[in-house]
Parts: sequence; structure tokens; C-alpha cells
Amino acid sequence: MARPLVAEINLAALRHNYQLALSQSATSSALAVVKANAYGHGAVKVAKTLADLAPAFAVASIEEANELVTAGITQPITLLEGFFDASELPTIFANSYQPLIHNHWQVTELIHYLAEHPQAKASLSLWLKVDTGMHRLGFSPEQTADIYTQLKDLAAIKEITLTSHFACADDLTSQATNQQLKLLTDLQKQLACPISIANSPATLGWPASQTGYLRPGIMLYGASPFAPGHLLGDQLQTVMTLKSQLISVRDLPAGEPVGYGARFVTQKPTRIGVVACGYGDGYPRQAIDGTPALVKGIKCQLAGRVSMDMLTLDLTNCPNAQVGDEVILWGENLSVNEVASYCDTISYTLLTCLLPRVKRQYI
Ligand code: PLP
Repeated sequence: MARPLVAEINLAALRHNYQLALSQSATSSALAVVKANAYGHGAVKVAKTLADLAPAFAVASIEEANELVTAGITQPITLLEGFFDASELPTIFANSYQPLIHNHWQVTELIHYLAEHPQAKASLSLWLKVDTGMHRLGFSPEQTADIYTQLKDLAAIKEITLTSHFACADDLTSQATNQQLKLLTDLQKQLACPISIANSPATLGWPASQTGYLRPGIMLYGASPFAPGHLLGDQLQTVMTLKSQLISVRDLPAGEPVGYGARFVTQKPTRIGVVACGYGDGYPRQAIDGTPALVKGIKCQLAGRVSMDMLTLDLTNCPNAQVGDEVILWGENLSVNEVASYCDTISYTLLTCLLPRVKRQYI
């Protein structure tokens, strides 16, 4: 039998989540963000599954875009970090990728390239990034109109979408989101162009931002940006369930250490289950004792440090557990958000850090 660790990926749930995003869009337009291998779910499979629903996809790099095109995806693809140097421009033009322009050096390179390639077809759709408060990428609101005009005057440019990214949309009490939105929509009124700003938390929690092209990522994969109890967040369906099995069960007396560094010491006679899943698969090594996992559907707790290929559970809650029993590390009935909260991280990292050696099984 093969090593039992698999990431089961529910494609119907993925479609449901995309449709939930789309249903929030005033303009019925939502790019599916499939960067970082679709947050660990397999970019090609995810894009193909959404191909009849999503009008466009968004990725971080040309390599990620090329992977989709090679697999037969024909929708427009936005490059969320634009291009990294001018050598990428021929590929961008050849494939009609939509690069995001966030810095003066990119404007200079683009103008230079077009001067040297006057035959470049007049089909480039650009995304112009405005720094509305994240202070990561983009032009200040004051600079934007000038840059916009400079780009708009280039014959090769077909359309410019103004874009920005929210820093705090997952905090429904933060004032920053409305301020960021106002800066972008003011510019939109001035320049009369399309916009895109809403990520998952905005799509689900900030109705005023549900304009232009939505850009949902994490919500497509079923992880809510909000705590349980949020009306729309709770309607998301789990997409990935990381499953394995117990490969060993042992009974230890009180006072015995388990695993590297003897971090966990039994306080009473304890049944310990060993699961085939470790940090070499992408399970976070920083998971603390008590991190939940489901054994035969029953919540048990991590006991001891995560090893490269294995982790150990306290089976007190599931005393009849045996070798071969199913263990869910996250997913169905155990949210990835909950597991992440024990690992000093967020769902995004657990999903994107799942390594290639974990077989993705699509259902
Ligand atoms: N847009 C941009 C520019 C992003 O960087 C991201 C994710 O990092 C997204 C959209 C999607 O965000 P989320 O996964 O929170 O929906």
C-alpha cells in the first residue's frame, strides 16, 4: 500500500465558492486568483474546473501564466506583480497577458520596448496599481493620473484597469478599507476606467467594494477570512481535506516523553497514535501540543513535535483507534483556520505550503 497521505480536493465545493463570490458582484465579474499553484490546490485543475464560470484568472508570474496556457486555458490572465524585467515583455505581448504596472521602472521599460517594437499589436490590457494605503506596490493617488495618461497615450495599450489591494479588509471594524476604496473610486470617476479592488474579505464583507473585477483567492478554496458566525463566510464549502492514517499505535505509561526534544510528556497512561504526515509534507512544524486532528471523526490533540514525515496524536479521546484508521489533519469538519490558529499562522500558509509530494486527489 502507498503512503496514505493525500489532499482530497472537492471540485464541486470550489465551484460553489466561486459562484458565491460571483453572486456578490454588482457587475458579475470575478477573476479567480490561482497563484501559488491555486493556493496549493493545483492551478491547472482549478482553472479548468472554473473555466466555464470565470472570465479571467490571476497569477503572480509569467511561469504561472504559461502553465495555464500550456494546459489549454484561454481566458485572459492577469500578472499580479507585473513583469520583473523587460525580457518578459515579448511573452506578455505574445500571450496577451495583462501585466500589473506598479513602479516607474516598469513604465520606462514598457515605453522603451514599444519604441523598439512598433509592430507590437495594439492589444495590451494593463492593470495600473494605485497605492491606496497598503504601501507595498503602486503609485500614489497623486501620481496615478499622470501615469495613466502616459500609458493611455501608447498605441499598443487597449485598456487600463485601476487596481489596488486592501490591507485590512478582514477586520470589519477597520476604517482603512473605506479610505482605500474612496481613493480608488475617486480616481475611477476622474479617469473613467474599470477598477478592481475586492479580495476575498472584501467580496464577502465590504459590499461597497463589490465593484469592477472582484479578485477572490482564499474564499475559492473554502477558508473564510472571518471567524465562524459570518453569514457569507459560513456558506463557504471546504475544498481541501488533508487525510492520512495511523501507522502505529502505542500505549505509554505516565511520565514518558514523545518525539523530538521530549516536548510532550505523558501525564497519565496514554495511547499515542503516529500519523503519516510531517513538515516534509508541509504540515507546520510550529504546531503546538493540542493542535486538533480528527481520528475516525473524533477530535484528538497533537502530542509532541511534528517530525519530517510523521506526527503524533494523543488518542485519549479515541481509545479504540487502530493502525489504518483515517486521520484528518484539516478540511472536512476541521477547518484549516482552526488548525492554523494553533500554528501561529493563517490558512493561506498551510494551504500554499503543502508540498508536491502530497498527492492531490480530485473528487
Ligand atoms: N489580489 C492580490 C493583488 C493579491 O495579492 C491577493 C492575494 O494575496 C488577492 C487578490 C487574493 O486575496 P485573498 O486570497 O485574500 O482573496
